[in-house]
Amino acid sequence: MPVNGTGAYDPQNVFARILRGELPCRKVYEDDYAFAFHDIAPKAPIHVLVIPKGAYVSFADFSAKASEAEIAGFTRAVGRVARDLGLEAPGYRLVSNTGIEGGQEVPHFHVHLFGGRALGAMLP
Ligand code: C5P
Repeated sequence: MPVNGTGAYDPQNVFARILRGELPCRKVYEDDYAFAFHDIAPKAPIHVLVIPKGAYVSFADFSAKASEAEIAGFTRAVGRVARDLGLEAPGYRLVSNTGIEGGQEVPHFHVHLFGGRALGAMLP
């Protein structure tokens, strides 16, 4: 069920619970600003989710409210995860579903990192 990308942050959302260690995940990377783990239902040979440590509902929320340090730290983490997974040379795709019409289901900002095969032309 898609969620509102501009609503109040729900500290019980599934990614908040993963960040707090209350739910399991297959962790890929962690630093002061970001946490990355394999998507539970992968849509590509490599499908990793990268999330900020801060409590942001969506990309809209993050881009408007996060500090410069959080934005820089998160962005660098996404690049590093892709590099560490060996995706830099072959290439990869980043997607962030935002809000109801964007198809966002978990109300904690996340970037999908897809790779491991030729992904073809960009789809809406
Ligand atoms: O961008 P959107 O919010 O639609 O995607 C949420 C993603 O979170 C889905 O790809 C889903 O498989 C993933 N997920 C997960 N682990 C959970 C719950 C959801 O990897 N426990």
